[in-house]
Amino acid sequence: MVKNIIMIIALAIFISSCSRLNPSSDQNDNINDPSTDNGNTDNGNTDDSLIEDDNKYPYLPIKLKEFVVTDKNSTSSDATADDNRKSREISIEEKAHVLEAIDIMRFVVNTSEFKDEFFNDIYKFEAAEYGRGIRTIKKGDYYYKNIIFNMLKNAAITTYIMKDDINGTANALGTLGPHFYVNVNATNPIIEGDKNGDLDLLIMLPNNFYWAEKNGFYGDKYKLAEIIFHELIHNLGFNHLNNSPNEIWNQYDTAEFMEDIFREVVSKSKFKNKYKSELKQYNYYQTKYKKFLKSKTIPK
Ligand SMILES: [Zn+2]
Repeated sequence: MVKNIIMIIALAIFISSCSRLNPSSDQNDNINDPSTDNGNTDNGNTDDSLIEDDNKYPYLPIKLKEFVVTDKNSTSSDATADDNRKSREISIEEKAHVLEAIDIMRFVVNTSEFKDEFFNDIYKFEAAEYGRGIRTIKKGDYYYKNIIFNMLKNAAITTYIMKDDINGTANALGTLGPHFYVNVNATNPIIEGDKNGDLDLLIMLPNNFYWAEKNGFYGDKYKLAEIIFHELIHNLGFNHLNNSPNEIWNQYDTAEFMEDIFREVVSKSKFKNKYKSELKQYNYYQTKYKKFLKSKTIPK
């Protein structure tokens, strides 16, 4: 029942820019025809330890579908085009780095520290627009935090990680999904991609950074985890509306609030020290998706 409703409103999917540093660079790419990653797909891993992890870390059990590269300039053979093509390759090292970041993201969201910060009174999530489903919201209404938090549980979003020629210095783009909030069951929201992939999430990261470079913008695995988390929040339907450069707190900007919560948690040395060994051991995505590490992904 809930899923049927979700499938209908999935038609409203569109792409949203969510760059903090370069908000003018909109993209209109979609995920209808992603390049394949040498035929590797998620066939499901039923390893006991992974199932155990799913029970222990129930929030954000995303499914990584593929690493994707854009296919531009594929017919050109001049040196520039070759350089360009090379820069859009995703190396094995970069993939490993992304998998580690996704592990960190999921681990953090499942900690009591994240939950405590989320329910901290500082964060007042307000609806930015009218929405009607199982419940109705209008601009300025406060969201029920418990519903948003429960949405993170069971959010088995099928995710693609893409390297693309995106303008700007630090930029990540994702798909803005339908507003699940108005439609999900409050205590047991089921959020997952449908068979058509309409609810899939494409996270595009620019190619002008070597993703795994130690000193690069994405070299910090915690920062990369934060960016990926930010995009997932968009995919649940939360956006940057009423965004004003003069306001520190944009009251309707739930995506930014959520990212702030994540950053606040991981920025504390107390947190990293407490979970140092657990974070090191938590390698769910690095294990489940190690098949991606067999080869680099190259533009055709
Ligand atoms: Zn954003």
